[in-house]
Amino acid sequence: MSQSWIRTENLTYSYQDDSTGEDQPVLHGIDLSIDRGEYIAIIGHNGSGKSTLAKLLNLVLEPTGGAIYVDGKNVSSPDMTDEDVFALRQKVGMVFQNPDNQLVATVVEEDVAFGPENLGVPSAEIRQRVDDALAMVGMTEYAKHEPHRLSGGQKQRVAIAGIIAMMPECMIFDESTAMLDPLGRREVLDTMEMLHREKNITIITITHHMDEAARADRIIVLDDGRILRDGTPEEIFSDPEPLIEAGLDVPQSASLIHRLRKQGIELPGKIGTPDDCLETICAVFEQ
Ligand code: ADP
Repeated sequence: MSQSWIRTENLTYSYQDDSTGEDQPVLHGIDLSIDRGEYIAIIGHNGSGKSTLAKLLNLVLEPTGGAIYVDGKNVSSPDMTDEDVFALRQKVGMVFQNPDNQLVATVVEEDVAFGPENLGVPSAEIRQRVDDALAMVGMTEYAKHEPHRLSGGQKQRVAIAGIIAMMPECMIFDESTAMLDPLGRREVLDTMEMLHREKNITIITITHHMDEAARADRIIVLDDGRILRDGTPEEIFSDPEPLIEAGLDVPQSASLIHRLRKQGIELPGKIGTPDDCLETICAVFEQ
């Protein structure tokens, strides 16, 4: 049996059409393996099933077919109790698109304390966790501030601190930068990468920004509820045709290198992020 930490087996999901009562299948037999500490981006055109997959991994939705295993345990089984589901949600935290919908308290530090309080963590430990989580996202000086007065990026970092305070092993970001300005996006991306690098938290990020996906170690491309591609940014972006056919962009820098290669120009090297592309082009001039 696979040793993967999170594994889905022939996972399917159908929504029910309210008016006709008919099943609307949106995920068709997803087989996915995720190891601890991975940094994964899930991309796909609108409606390809990314959010549905994320909600299944967090047990916000129950599969209509197949199974989800975490640490070898079938977490989609009907035997799961409410406590089991609660424990799983603490292990696999989720950050959503709109920061305003995720903040519940009127003071930043109370908001961050909300999750651990619900977990029944002793109050001295809550204090420590809140301080640590705010420090981690660089929001210590805003501990006593009102969340609604913060910028979008700052609010999203408070929402992230609230999840960190529950000590998750995995965090899923569902389009968490989509509503932010460029500065806010960068703040959230840097936080995400720090959690991966320094805390070894497994990161799964759903994004329609190809440059954000390029920063992950692995990209999964969904197309109409199926996995179209699964590989490193290099593997995915050096073969852009399937992405373009699936209605997706390729980062401009990677696209440029791909086109130069097609012209017969030899450009060995990585093409994941713009920095990789820069190195790849510079290497030619250094030869
Ligand atoms: P993505 O995140 O890739 O945009 P979603 O998982 O949100 O895709 O949606 C996949 C499909 O499921 C879409 O066709 C969408 O219209 C449909 N869908 C999503 N949420 C619901 C819902 N609550 N009820 C019915 N259909 C839904």
